[in-house]
Amino acid sequence: MTVLQMLKPHAGLRVLVTGGASGIGLVIARAFVDAGSRVHVCDASQAAIDALLEVESQSECNAITATLADVADKDAVERVFADADAQLGGLDVLINNAGIAGPTGGIDEIDVSEWEQTIDVNLNAQFYFARRAVPLLRGARDGGAIIALSSVAGRLGYAYRTPYAATKWAVVGLTKSLAIELGPAGIRVNAIQPGIVKGPRIQRVIEARAKQLGLSYEDMEKEYLAKISLRRMTTPDEVAATALFLCSPGGSGISGQAISVCGNVEVL
Ligand code: NAD
Repeated sequence: MTVLQMLKPHAGLRVLVTGGASGIGLVIARAFVDAGSRVHVCDASQAAIDALLEVESQSECNAITATLADVADKDAVERVFADADAQLGGLDVLINNAGIAGPTGGIDEIDVSEWEQTIDVNLNAQFYFARRAVPLLRGARDGGAIIALSSVAGRLGYAYRTPYAATKWAVVGLTKSLAIELGPAGIRVNAIQPGIVKGPRIQRVIEARAKQLGLSYEDMEKEYLAKISLRRMTTPDEVAATALFLCSPGGSGISGQAISVCGNVEVL
């Protein structure tokens, strides 16, 4: 195999993407399908799943299947794995993608319930999915892989977004520890740390932050871009390309890493 051929993802991967019916998760799911994988997603939004399955039913390959499930609901996780196993007959890659922005506010303004919900979705769910996936990944064809979506807020402090930042740092701790635990079994575990990714989610985050600081949306967006060395947002495709690379022979030596795909966000 030439070095160039090593950049092509393994063919026929069986992939589970949490929160994969829209946003970055869906872009990752579609990228894997383009590379010849079969993909099962779960998502908490019936509308997003309906929209995805509608598009899938019109496509030739119809390679994405889905389960309606809140990743923070332990019982629902069992349903997701039952469906994924029925659809895929095993698992090669888990993409722990589902995540929420959590509340924006000073520490004394944040409700305990909002803190708990952010920890449940962004951290506890990654644990629930990893613990169920690992026995399946031990039977993966080219060595299993877990890819966890962290954030640049998992390598930088992020004032007024403390629940989010705390979970995204925690995801890196989970990733690095699991990489050591599972490396001898040939299972690689990495985190991707997107920065400010183009799309509706970041619009909502910038809006909330602007409101918090009493600024206009435009001024707030300028402030965000000024903190990125490349002075632009990252695209979901750039995040998905990194996930694909991590599942190619070229990425087969990478484990235990938190990889920033962010244009080098200098500070948050
Ligand atoms: P998003 O808000 O667009 O949501 C993606 C999908 O997750 C949606 O379909 C949603 O229904 C689903 N989802 C939300 N909560 C869920 C739950 N409890 N159970 C199951 N599904 C759920 O998110 P996104 O922007 O695509 O982000 C994906 C991941 O990337 C998240 O972990 C996020 O923290 C991380 N991230 C995003 C950005 C960004 O700028 N968008 C930056 C850094 C990190």
